[in-house]
Amino acid sequence: MTTSTSFGSCIFCRIANGDLATEFVAVSEHAVAFRDLAPQAPTHVLVVPRRHVASLHDIVPEDGVLVADTLQLAVEVARREGVIAGGFRVLTNDGPDAGQTVDHLHFHVLGGRRLHEPLG
Ligand code: AMP
Repeated sequence: MTTSTSFGSCIFCRIANGDLATEFVAVSEHAVAFRDLAPQAPTHVLVVPRRHVASLHDIVPEDGVLVADTLQLAVEVARREGVIAGGFRVLTNDGPDAGQTVDHLHFHVLGGRRLHEPLG
């Protein structure tokens, strides 16, 4: 478990803390959701835990509540965006080969059009 509440230089910590006045699509106890700067689909929202966790592989069993809450918020975003019926995708990139560019765990919520396959 990454124990810090916030990393000063981390852009997603700053957003989650409200330092950058980013508009939230939805919030929960442990996570915030906001629109991606460079949307890849009509719905492209990032769901980010409030506490700094660098990547999915840094999650430990004690983070179970945080992970459940974050994924529930991803579903709530999909519901609010109206993409449940059509279908949506939730994904996270972990590490350079996967294309992770921000080292703060985040789940992309994508929908609103037929999404491309294959993923890789
Ligand atoms: P990843 O490449 O999986 O690490 O995803 C990082 C995502 O964060 C990219 O889709 C970026 O467009 C997005 N992003 C980076 N900075 C910001 C920001 N300040 N506000 C919203 N989205 C951002």
